[in-house]
Amino acid sequence: MKVTEHIKNANGKTLFSFEIIPPQKGSSIEDLYSNIDPLMEFNPPFIDVTTSREEYIYIERDNGLIDRKITRMRPGTVGICASLQHKYNVDTVPHVLCGGFTKEETEYMLIDCQYLGIENVVALRGDAMKEEKYFRPTKGGHTYASELVAQIFSLNKGEYLHDAVENLTGKEFCIGVAGYPEKHMEAPSLNYDLKWLKAKVDAGADYVVTQMFFDNQKFFEFVEKAREMGITVPIIPGIKPIATKRHLQLLPHVFKIDLPEDLIDAVTACKDNKAVRQVGVEWAIQQSKELLDYGVPVLHYYSMGKSDNIKAVASAIF
Ligand code: FAD
Repeated sequence: MKVTEHIKNANGKTLFSFEIIPPQKGSSIEDLYSNIDPLMEFNPPFIDVTTSREEYIYIERDNGLIDRKITRMRPGTVGICASLQHKYNVDTVPHVLCGGFTKEETEYMLIDCQYLGIENVVALRGDAMKEEKYFRPTKGGHTYASELVAQIFSLNKGEYLHDAVENLTGKEFCIGVAGYPEKHMEAPSLNYDLKWLKAKVDAGADYVVTQMFFDNQKFFEFVEKAREMGITVPIIPGIKPIATKRHLQLLPHVFKIDLPEDLIDAVTACKDNKAVRQVGVEWAIQQSKELLDYGVPVLHYYSMGKSDNIKAVASAIF
């Protein structure tokens, strides 16, 4: 079922969902299951599975020369989606990237999804490669997520890249896109960024999932501005419980988000990471309760490979 159908069928009740990251190449899927198992009691209607960009690795040869190879450390997004659907009878949402994929490769992936009964995707540009400062579009790929949305929207109508054929599956993708309550790191202002969010929705996106944030006020203002701009699709907040002291530097550095002073003080005062986890869980519970009262359609949690803290939050909310 489509994410938007799940939201509609919930009749105003807030749903629980979460995002997982594929394991490192070579790891067993059982580890992933053991992280997901404890969360299934909260009946997520859908689970997101991220896609990682390709990266360079350096291999030293016997003669001392170094080979540079390109690889994907966490492949298998679509395979994982299919496994989760099969094992848990849950809808899955693979993330589809512009970066690292040609339009043809994207089309093939979408066709795989159609055959596997995957009805939702989140369309993203992807970040720059680790070695690069700015995002460079892949040759034959898209520059912005709005172009990727347009490709998926066309495919929904049976218009493939080089030919128009009858849509054999009769299934259309429900398309999610990313939104940034604290603006995207490259955008000069929130209004500018929202203009491009609107372009994604106009190109065919059905809903928005936000970047993590720790101050609900920023989310409320973001939603208000988005509505003023004419973005009417559901906006799903993304929540991440802080889990280690290192997150105080890491999260602002990677995601270009601010942390509230109260949260910084509480984490700084912790003796160890066990105490930090507790602070993170309590903060996320408070955030979730307020968002629930606000009437968000879904509370979407970033698991980043760990589920015990998400379970603690979900137990207090659902
Ligand atoms: P876009 O919407 O294309 O926007 C990128 C930037 O360009 C923004 O600053 C925007 O304002 C600007 N812009 C957009 N369109 C135009 C235009 N036509 N002209 C000029 N400027 C424009 N990354 C991964 O690698 N894998 C994942 O699985 C993944 N999942 C994510 C899930 C969520 C919910 C979120 C919020 C992010 C996720 N990301 C993921 C990170 C995402 O790929 C990065 O944040 C990326 O830098 C931007 O992606 P986007 O789709 O928002 O890009």
